[in-house]
Amino acid sequence: MEAAASKDLCDVFLRKICAIPNGSKINECLQCGTCSASCPTATAMEYSPREVIAALRARMLERVLKSNTVWLCSSCYSCTVRCPAGIPFTDVMYELKRLGVKYGLYPKGTTNAVMAQAFVASVDRYGRNHEPELIRNYYLRTNPLRFLSQVILGLRLLSRGRMRLRPHRIKGREELRKMMAAIEENASP
Ligand code: SF4
Ligand code: SF4
Repeated sequence: MEAAASKDLCDVFLRKICAIPNGSKINECLQCGTCSASCPTATAMEYSPREVIAALRARMLERVLKSNTVWLCSSCYSCTVRCPAGIPFTDVMYELKRLGVKYGLYPKGTTNAVMAQAFVASVDRYGRNHEPELIRNYYLRTNPLRFLSQVILGLRLLSRGRMRLRPHRIKGREELRKMMAAIEENASP
């Protein structure tokens, strides 16, 4: 059994998933397994797409979020286009990632969530990804020693013009931030 607090959080997650377009269709899942059979990464997932839906409906959210499953989704949309019940499973995975990061519910010892946070921070700052900063922030939080080896690779990329040292800032960053803040506010439980 999962803790009572997890049940409350599960209600929050389910409410948010049901709020995405066609998200409430998770209640119409047939458990046919078409999504799992279509998924190119399902064999490496601790829980298949079909099992994720079953776990969500059974309020067993925490074990799904702490597994590798959502972080192995490559957003290929095969599950979504083939689901006979019209469930937007790829979008469900995105929402699980977003809320998992927000509530610190992701597999410990893995670094995917750190990469996601570093990417979002870079886009928030410049309006687009700035690779040197992304890599620096990612490795300093996950494996500082490995960062040193990445410096050599980075210098090679810089010397060949494959990467810019100075960030490229888009116009209208303030407008972008306002849009992102509005989206986050709407998305907040
Ligand atoms: S394909 Fe759709 S209906 Fe079938 S198990 Fe997956 S989510 Fe459920
Ligand atoms: S979108 Fe994700 S869960 Fe769906 S089939 Fe592709 S990899 Fe699998």
